[in-house]
Amino acid sequence: MRAAVLTAPDRFEVQNRPVPEPAADQLLVRVAACGVCGHDVLARKGLLAARPGQVLGHEIAGRVEAVGPAGDTSWLGRRVALVQRFPCGTCAECAAGHTNTCRGGPGFYGEDLPGGYAEYVLAGPLNAVALPDTIDDEVGAILSCALGTGLHALRRTRAAAGEVVLVTGASGGVGIHTVRIAAALGATVIAVTSSDSKKQTLLGSGAQAVVTVAEGAPAVRAAAANLGRPRGADVAIETTGTPTFGLSLKALAPRGRLAVVGNTDPGAVEVHLGLMILKELEIVGSAHANRRELLDVVDLVAGGKVTPVSPRVWPLDDVAAAHAAVDSGALVGRAVIRP
Ligand SMILES: [Zn+2]
Ligand SMILES: [Zn+2]
Repeated sequence: MRAAVLTAPDRFEVQNRPVPEPAADQLLVRVAACGVCGHDVLARKGLLAARPGQVLGHEIAGRVEAVGPAGDTSWLGRRVALVQRFPCGTCAECAAGHTNTCRGGPGFYGEDLPGGYAEYVLAGPLNAVALPDTIDDEVGAILSCALGTGLHALRRTRAAAGEVVLVTGASGGVGIHTVRIAAALGATVIAVTSSDSKKQTLLGSGAQAVVTVAEGAPAVRAAAANLGRPRGADVAIETTGTPTFGLSLKALAPRGRLAVVGNTDPGAVEVHLGLMILKELEIVGSAHANRRELLDVVDLVAGGKVTPVSPRVWPLDDVAAAHAAVDSGALVGRAVIRP
C-alpha cells in the first residue's frame, strides 16, 4: 500500500508498505479520507511522540475490507469512522468507559500505531462506528476529532443549554465545530478568534458574539454582559492553550469551568491562583473523544442538528501542501487527505 511516511521532522515521503494483517477481531479499513489537525502539525515538527518512520493521521474514515480470524463478518463492506485511539477494551480505564485514557491496546493512530495517511489501517469494534450514507467520507473522517473533541469538552465542563460558552481558536477545526455543537445544544456562544476577517463565518456558525484575541478578556466580559452574564462566561473551551489561556480564565464568571483541549504552543502557562480561589473556578483537561461521543456526533450530523464545515481535500502525494495550508492559519475548518 502507499503511505506518506514522516521520514524526518517536516519531511514526508510516499513509500510502499505492506498492507497490515488484522488479528483476532480486528478490522482492516481501506482509508477513504484522513483529516489533518494541529496535533499532526506538532507531530510533523517532532514535538510529540511520533518518531521518524511513523505514518501520521488519526482522523480516519473508510470501508472495512477484511476482518481478523475471530472477527464479526457483519463489518465487511461497511463504511466506518474511527475514534482516534484504538483502546484495549479490558483495562480499568476501558471498563469505566474512559477509553480515551486507555494506555493498553494498539493506542493512538500516528503515534502508537500507523495512522491514516495511508491506504489501509487496522481498527476494531471498540473504535469503529458505522457511517450512514448521508455523511460523506471527508466529513466522516473529521467527526471524531474535529467534532467529538468539542462534544467531549462540553461534557467535561457540564455545559448546559442557556449557559454562556466561550470558545477560543474558534476558526480552527475543533473550534468552529465546538461553536456549532454548543449552539445546537442550546448554549449561547462567544467565539474568540485571531482576526476580524473570520467574524462573519463565526456569526454564521451560531456564535452570538465574536471577539478577537487582541481585544482580550475585557471585550469577552463586555460581550458576556450583553448576553446577560455581567460576571463573565459560564464555560470556556480552550482549543489553543497557551496563547489564550489567561484570557479564558479572566473571562469566566464565578464557578466558571474551563476545559483545556488544545495545546498549540506547548509550554507553561501562569495560573492566577487568587482568581481561581475567589471565583471558585474549575480547570479540567479534555482528551479527544470516546466512541460514545463519535456515535452522538454521527447522530447530530445525520439528524441535521450540526452541519460540519466542508473540509478541503488534498491527495496523499500532496500531504505537505495540506500541512502548509493548516500552518498558514487561513483555513477555516479542516484539511483532509484522500489516500
Ligand atoms: Zn485530530
Ligand atoms: Zn484499555
